[in-house]
Amino acid sequence: MKEVYLDNQSAKPVDPRVIEGMLPYFGEKYGNPSALHTIGDIGTDTLEESRKSIAKFINADEDEIIFTSGATEAINLGIIGYAMKNKNKGNHIVMSEIEHISIHNIAKYLERSGFEISKVPVDKYGRVNLKKLERRITDKTILLSIGYASNEIGTIQPIREIGKLAEEKGIAFHSDAVAAEGLMPIDVKRDGVHLLALSSNDIYGPKGVGVLYMRKKFRVNPIIIGGGQERGLRSGSEDVTGIVGMKIAAEIMQKEMPSEVKRFTEYRDRMIKQILEEIPDSYLNGHPTERLASNTHIRFDGIEGESILLSFKDKGIAISTGSACTSKTLEPSHALIATGLLHEEAHGSLQITTGRFNTEQDIDSVLKAVPEVVTRLRDLSPIYKTKKV
Ligand code: PMP
Repeated sequence: MKEVYLDNQSAKPVDPRVIEGMLPYFGEKYGNPSALHTIGDIGTDTLEESRKSIAKFINADEDEIIFTSGATEAINLGIIGYAMKNKNKGNHIVMSEIEHISIHNIAKYLERSGFEISKVPVDKYGRVNLKKLERRITDKTILLSIGYASNEIGTIQPIREIGKLAEEKGIAFHSDAVAAEGLMPIDVKRDGVHLLALSSNDIYGPKGVGVLYMRKKFRVNPIIIGGGQERGLRSGSEDVTGIVGMKIAAEIMQKEMPSEVKRFTEYRDRMIKQILEEIPDSYLNGHPTERLASNTHIRFDGIEGESILLSFKDKGIAISTGSACTSKTLEPSHALIATGLLHEEAHGSLQITTGRFNTEQDIDSVLKAVPEVVTRLRDLSPIYKTKKV
């Protein structure tokens, strides 16, 4: 049985064109960019070309790109690095209730180090309200951190408006762009973002590679100390093989994103419409229109997320019930709770995320499976029956 993979938000297959471009860097092109001989020069040239391509992908300058070991590290460097560098200016940071778990855990760490964190609530669709955000800003606020979009419910935030607010208030704006990259254009200048985290895998590059964009004058303190690579901001030999993979992935994405987004939007709209029409007591999580093209997130009354997931697994379909980063905790998704759902409601959701290698047949398979699974689980569910009597 061929597995149908519809969990592209948790991990994406590396594009074969990326793998091909990376291969020489596992072999003959092994030079360390810090070395001054010819083999090292190949590493240096590749690193600098990659910096240029990735800068172009987000409309940044190449000297604003810092390579890291993934988005988590980029986020740590962006938020902790900025907070530490600017702690003499203020100790207050504002973020949303719906940020990725890595950001909420950084908040806990910074609170233990004397910073104050305010979390702005989101509306029932998961969007940050600008007025509420503005009210949280004080004269001690040094940084806002609001991601472009939710990796769980797919809601897109009003990033340009938040960027404008940060500009008016004279505070730095960090954004986790991981869920959005490759699904909407990211332009750090237009969007008014000063610090931004990207991951390579989210654009079909290898895992374990990422980037922090750091606008000039929004400098950070390093969090990894060593030989002084990446202009002293991220020590450790650069992973040239992974970085060249991210470069190729960004170049492909820049060309293919418009047609890909169009295709995903058709898949998504078809899935949402058909599931909501066919299945009683089903509801869309997240925003109806301001949502990532790849994201279909639906809640069913009376069933458990874990049992939905296992039933799909039996049918050879990989889907998710929430973020892979927290799936082992059995806690309900904090993003769904932030939109006002009760714990039991948050547990009955299904997240389908499409990617480059999905076809119309994959969508047919999942649409066939959803009513079968939901009907069977509801027949077994004492909660659903009780509710209906
Ligand atoms: N932010 C978001 C929105 C994510 O979905 C993820 C996980 N892919 C991360 C940050 C962390 O990324 P990484 O696993 O590359 O460190």
